[in-house]
Amino acid sequence: MGLYRTRKSYYIYDPNTLSYDRVYPSAKDRIFTIIRHLSTGIVVGFIFFFVLMRFFESPMESQLRKENKLLQTQYEVLSLRLNNAFEILNDVQQRDENLYRAIFQAASIPESIRKLGFGGTNRYEHLMSLPNSDLVVATTQKMDMLTKQLYVQSNSLEELVNMGKTQEERAKCIPAIQPLSNKDFARTASGYGMRIDPIYRTPRFHGGMDFSAKTGTDIYATGNGVIIFAGWKQGYGNCIMIDHGFGYETLYGHMSAFKARVGQKVTRGEVIGFVGNTGKSTGPHLHYEVIVRGRRDNPSKYYFMDLTPEEYDHMIQIAENHGQVMD
Ligand SMILES: [Zn+2]
Repeated sequence: MGLYRTRKSYYIYDPNTLSYDRVYPSAKDRIFTIIRHLSTGIVVGFIFFFVLMRFFESPMESQLRKENKLLQTQYEVLSLRLNNAFEILNDVQQRDENLYRAIFQAASIPESIRKLGFGGTNRYEHLMSLPNSDLVVATTQKMDMLTKQLYVQSNSLEELVNMGKTQEERAKCIPAIQPLSNKDFARTASGYGMRIDPIYRTPRFHGGMDFSAKTGTDIYATGNGVIIFAGWKQGYGNCIMIDHGFGYETLYGHMSAFKARVGQKVTRGEVIGFVGNTGKSTGPHLHYEVIVRGRRDNPSKYYFMDLTPEEYDHMIQIAENHGQVMD
């Protein structure tokens, strides 16, 4: 009896029939065969898989890698653009500090407030675990700084806009012209400062400016304001006082008559009364005072609206040197 085996089948020689009979494998043999083939397949499969993994990437990985690269590039571009924005903002801050705020005499905003960072706890902790976290944190930080600095800058400009609004009003109100029509300065009699008293002939402080003029000459309000006094005042005779707001008042003395009453609003250049010789006076003239926050100031400092620098210089010389106090 012999066992003859072809590739996939088993045959047994049967002496009785003098022929080979095919032997079919048992179910057990079949299962073992299947398991053997499967395990070989799995092992080979795994080996191929890891080899491929090592040297090639899947289409999805490739896609993700490209996206990651793109995002990183976008972050870098964003970071550069933020740098540009900072440069522009820095320029605006410089102009704000050295020009705009200077014009309005606004208090400067210290660098510590303009450029203050975010102190205390780490606001970027949640970003730290990300890949490329340095880039992400730095960019986010820049963005936050830019937002904060823009906020400070915007507040500063808003403050200046508000000051600009009152500045316009202030420019209309502060005394800024001469109280008489006086282009040739013929009427400038004496200025502010230590002068010889015209009556007692002793040195005495003269707290205003005298303009000689004929009785009845128009006297102008030198800025917008409200009449707060119109009556007789010891030494000043018939006298008008105007409150201009912003800490400014003006006084007009020795008048012959009034053309305004207490409580009346007046505008710059409006006639409020007429030159006279009332009170302690040596002849028809206007005594004019500018009072700033309760203290008398030199009126000649306040004629900038209707004098050129040359005219101003001429007026000052007359008031300082040749003037005679008329009180
Ligand atoms: Zn005077």
